[in-house]
Amino acid sequence: GRKVLIVSACLVGFNCKYNGGNNSCSLLEEAFSKGLLIPLCPEQLGGLPTPRPPSKITDGDGFLVLEGKARVLTVDGTCLDVTDNFLRGAYETLRAAEKLGERVVACVLKEKSPSCGVRKIYRFSEDSLKDGMGVTAALLKSKGFKILSSDDTETIKEILRELR
Ligand code: SF4
Repeated sequence: GRKVLIVSACLVGFNCKYNGGNNSCSLLEEAFSKGLLIPLCPEQLGGLPTPRPPSKITDGDGFLVLEGKARVLTVDGTCLDVTDNFLRGAYETLRAAEKLGERVVACVLKEKSPSCGVRKIYRFSEDSLKDGMGVTAALLKSKGFKILSSDDTETIKEILRELR
């Protein structure tokens, strides 16, 4: 079958961000219209509403959440535990990736998100970034999928040229 990229759905214009907006990227929007991308939003797949309160990982990063050693909590003052939604969404995304199997060249995930972040996520107790992956990025990586940050524009361009 045809090779594809899995992408965070907000990168191709779906209004699935916590605040009801998107992170549209023209390079990826164009690839989507050519049928080269499979857009998925782990937080929506995990059953969370849109808009929804923003969330952060309490300790470490997505890998620690997968091990059951950290939680994901909403950080707008509500302090709801949404760990189970984040895990459900990560495993639903993995299910899609595994269905597509070797057709998946890479997963392009939105940087800094507690689900999709690849190199950076937000610290729990302050408004600053630290090194680490979101929950879905960590799960896909642990299962052997190639993960690219939405910031890796040059690499994404190269891969898209090969897919065409
Ligand atoms: Fe959904 Fe990931 Fe985009 Fe957040 S970054 S809106 S979880 S696709």
